Amino acid sequence: MPPLKSRSLPVLDGSPDSSSRAQASERTWRGPGEYASGRERSPEFEPGVDQPPAGTSRRDLLQLLGASVAFAGLSGCFKPPDDKILPYTRQPEEIVPGNPLHYATSTMLGGYATGLLVTSFEGRPTKIEGNPEHPGSLGSSGVHEQAALLQLYDPQRAAVVQQHGKPRSFRDYLVTMNARVPLLKARGGETLRLLVPPSSSPLIGNLRERILAAYPRARIVTWSAAPLSAQASNDGAVLAFGAPYETRLELSRARVIASLDADLLSSMPGNLQHLRGFAGNRDPKSPMNRLYAVETSLSVTGMSADHRLRLKPSELERFSLALLGRLGKQIPSLARFSPLAGKIVLAKEQARFADALAKDLLRAGKESVVVAGARQTALTQAACQLINATLGSEAVTWSRPVLHDADAGPRALLSLVEEMRAGKVETLLIAAHNPVHGAPFDLAFGAALSRVPVSVYSSPYFDETAERAAWHLPAAHELETWGDGRALDGTVTFQQPLIAPLFGGVSEIELYSSLLGEGDRGAYAQLRDFWRGKGASDAAWERSIADGFVPGTAAAAETPAVRIDEIARAAEQVAAASAPGLGSMGLELNVVPDYKTYDGRFANNAWLQELPDPVTKLTWDNAALISQDTARELGLESGDLVDLGLRGPPVHAPVLIVPGHADGTITVSLGYGRRGAEKTAENVGFDIAPLRHANSPWFDSGLTVAKVERKYPIALTQEHFSMEGRKLAVSASLEQYRSKETQESLEALRTKNDSVHAPVEYPGYRWAMAIDLGRCTGCNACTIACQAENNISVVGKDGVGKSREMHWLRIDRYFTGEDLNNPAVITQPMLCQHCESAPCEYVCPVNATVHSDEGLNEMVYNRCVGTRYCSNNCPYKVRRFNFFNYTGAFTDTEKMVFNPDVTVRARGVMEKCTFCVQRIERVRIKSRVEAREIREGELVTACQQACPAGAIAFGSLNDPKSQVVAWNEDDRHYYVLNELGTRPRVAYLARVTNPNPELA
Ligand code: SF4
Ligand code: SF4
Repeated sequence: MPPLKSRSLPVLDGSPDSSSRAQASERTWRGPGEYASGRERSPEFEPGVDQPPAGTSRRDLLQLLGASVAFAGLSGCFKPPDDKILPYTRQPEEIVPGNPLHYATSTMLGGYATGLLVTSFEGRPTKIEGNPEHPGSLGSSGVHEQAALLQLYDPQRAAVVQQHGKPRSFRDYLVTMNARVPLLKARGGETLRLLVPPSSSPLIGNLRERILAAYPRARIVTWSAAPLSAQASNDGAVLAFGAPYETRLELSRARVIASLDADLLSSMPGNLQHLRGFAGNRDPKSPMNRLYAVETSLSVTGMSADHRLRLKPSELERFSLALLGRLGKQIPSLARFSPLAGKIVLAKEQARFADALAKDLLRAGKESVVVAGARQTALTQAACQLINATLGSEAVTWSRPVLHDADAGPRALLSLVEEMRAGKVETLLIAAHNPVHGAPFDLAFGAALSRVPVSVYSSPYFDETAERAAWHLPAAHELETWGDGRALDGTVTFQQPLIAPLFGGVSEIELYSSLLGEGDRGAYAQLRDFWRGKGASDAAWERSIADGFVPGTAAAAETPAVRIDEIARAAEQVAAASAPGLGSMGLELNVVPDYKTYDGRFANNAWLQELPDPVTKLTWDNAALISQDTARELGLESGDLVDLGLRGPPVHAPVLIVPGHADGTITVSLGYGRRGAEKTAENVGFDIAPLRHANSPWFDSGLTVAKVERKYPIALTQEHFSMEGRKLAVSASLEQYRSKETQESLEALRTKNDSVHAPVEYPGYRWAMAIDLGRCTGCNACTIACQAENNISVVGKDGVGKSREMHWLRIDRYFTGEDLNNPAVITQPMLCQHCESAPCEYVCPVNATVHSDEGLNEMVYNRCVGTRYCSNNCPYKVRRFNFFNYTGAFTDTEKMVFNPDVTVRARGVMEKCTFCVQRIERVRIKSRVEAREIREGELVTACQQACPAGAIAFGSLNDPKSQVVAWNEDDRHYYVLNELGTRPRVAYLARVTNPNPELA
């Protein structure tokens, strides 16, 4: 894979562009050209004019046609009008058919931008990678960034503007709004409200300011169901510093890391750089960091922790204060907190953990950091800020928020709902994600929305909120629109479209500008004008768009003074309150964002639905997660259906016992049980909304559980392709690793074993992979990257239930240790090992799986007759068989997701990891053209490129300077099932943990 080079799109501002690129867009870039030049703008139509222009635009016609067909229930027969495809009259110099281009752009989640590079084949985006230069991604990507591609081509996205269920055009909407603008302005926007998602976009900030200037009595409320930008973090900063501050982490600078419910290492927004920073210090030959995790349900971070303490949600705040108390005994400036150590009585195991952690933090001093999760209370957040500030943690910096309004929790939503109920809101513009589904149950947002006369909602799908809003506008996908934002560190980042809106989506920018009477001004024109106003010259603008961001724009770090008195007062109040006695809180509820669907916005993404949860390995569902002991007490087993109740109607949910879960608590995740028009998401899992209340959206007590005498089938992948019982994933403590015994046992695992086959010489390239289990957190990004790169099919819940999932790369998760209530966990990416003596090859009757002269185990698809002998004989269980033609019914739009470099497999064909042979061949062609060898680092597999932890190395074993050789010479390396004589080409580096001797 050649190093990705970002390019900017042609200037698409509607001005005549004489460049060949723009002319080339006659075919490939026609859409973006139309889009940015004002899709529906016509000379007759001016902002503020309340009459539609004469005539019907092509877009209107398509919308009406699409809508009428859809409404007649004939969507399956819909056929777009024939369009001529013409060859270029002048070949654009940089478009070579078959050679992709790479463009810098970004996606936003929680209001923060992640810089990306997107691969595009003649105008068709086919793969998303991280932008190596961008501080928010550092070249890697998470599951949501990878899976955004499937969402782009999702034919279930909303395609028609609707008013009360009737098809309309965007122009109709603009006319309605233009007519309304003078009325709203006359009353200063008194009855106007906006419900918006958290955003750091400078342009959107400016638009919001202009809206408030035009409507001084209007109000903008920020809300998100997911916790990244939750009000608790904001409240914690206000308690600690007296003003909102955002905390930035540089985990590479920490030797002791304590996570209090902060899932820092999962593939969630903002975590990519955390993963890189953490993983960089897990090599036992350098000083290793040590990770402590205190949490309720086992998380990705907890799986990587050297020490883990499971606590009920109600115990976490008290634990943070107990820790502060222990530090107060040692640090004079915290002395006033020392009584907390005595007042807050911890259970024996908890106290031992807190003692050891406090000592370790003190020893590490400025190389330590304590982080509270965004769901935790303001006091817990403030206690952590105080500890970091006192220890002088170098891993933490604070800066003023880059989000326009970080207070995005239920508190703000509650005040809006009260106004809606009281009839004080006549016009409501909603850009926040699906509040009818995600808002706390007691707010009854849906009922309140029905009372607003003019409600406008923009979203990618016709979801639960769309059903209740007066107007629904399809929202443009992030790869379809212009925009800007800021990364977690504040770096200004740009979004540029890779393709014209496939379903006529409207951007958030256009939505807001409709309130200013400028709704038909394209997003590009607005963005360019805004940055021109900030002094961006054309050259600087072009460079920023090509790079995807503006270097040197990170938010300035500040050193706010900690308000120790305020924290002490709040802590004393909590300490004075009697501790919740054992069992007094009853069963507790713990609500978490889902690793895959997040808050439901990714629920219609089949890649994510079928992706095994990194901890539970559950697909196509959520479940009530419970510890083994609590399940036993309640007489429950995995798969039992229960009714969960908490001050509302009961929620049916299947039980799933998870080792390492805190006792007395049930964990449920957001984002399931959807009832919108999204067919993939519909009725998958259960909707936890009735359990959530505005004053306790994440944790609550008094949960009731009633067993329903029925089982619920769940599709778990952990038992599939099981190789358990064999020596597969090796983990050792630092002390064990240094012992002769461990070194001998690793030596035994890597010693080449005899095979009946004589070794073969590979004089050219010898492709091989190495995976560092010490770095891997099991985040799953590599699995989705592999799926996107290699056109891997989705089989659905029934298929997964029959072990038919098609993932070429799976993440095996093993629990180890005696105590299943608090086990150690190790994750292991497992893929075809490209065995030099491959058992799959001997048994194929038609020679459909063969070996290349560079050591790749290859599949010749059109020779495969589907006996599946190879799969049976593969000891690693990494071969996947297409029982059905999973892609046969794909629409033309869905087919656009396919990577044209990779065959789309048909029914009856075996498939498996190819080491991204298509990338090897691309780089080989380039190196041959340039008459040179392939260089180290030039060839990157899809999984390697995505991995935020840098846990995967790939290259030639004949290149002594390659990283894969270095890792193959590392004293931690070994081969899985090498004793079978398979001579694998994938080496694993044993995970070494760094336990605290005081807790060992
Ligand atoms: Fe995540 Fe895969 Fe990297 Fe492990 S190897 S950290 S699962 S991307
Ligand atoms: Fe064949 Fe399995 Fe070895 Fe891959 S891992 S080469 S499929 S035996």
